[in-house]
Amino acid sequence: MAVSVPLAGGCACGAIRYSCTAAPMFTWKCHCRDCQRSTGGGAAVNVVFSASAVQFTQGAPKEYVCTGTSGAKTHRGFCAECGSPVSARADLIPEIRGISAASLDDPSKLELDADIWTASAQPWDELSSTLPQFETTPTPEELQELAAH
Ligand SMILES: [Zn+2]
Ligand SMILES: [Zn+2]
Repeated sequence: MAVSVPLAGGCACGAIRYSCTAAPMFTWKCHCRDCQRSTGGGAAVNVVFSASAVQFTQGAPKEYVCTGTSGAKTHRGFCAECGSPVSARADLIPEIRGISAASLDDPSKLELDADIWTASAQPWDELSSTLPQFETTPTPEELQELAAH
């Protein structure tokens, strides 16, 4: 992926800033209903990092906790001041942390690696014809394959 580290970003109002000290493992578009509700669109574009690579350098996201279909909790981080979605972490896969693509200072160098939760993709949100698609959350093996990609 053609991004240079560290990658910095934050919310719209600047109350929250973060730094990512390693390149992303992969970037995906998640079409689950929770991502749709949190972004207001058809999908969230999440840049997935190793959890240890992401540090909040200013402020901290407020977290909304929702329970996924697996019964495990997902913590959706957003700015309490401006409402921008910033981050996400899931109890099911604690070793990774998602960063909302648009919160990066320069999201233009990102490349998408997959569409996930296509089972709940909206008919008006066109899916890529070339990217791998996963009906729900990829399995740990599939995640490893994506990361090695
Ligand atoms: Zn903010
Ligand atoms: Zn999602």
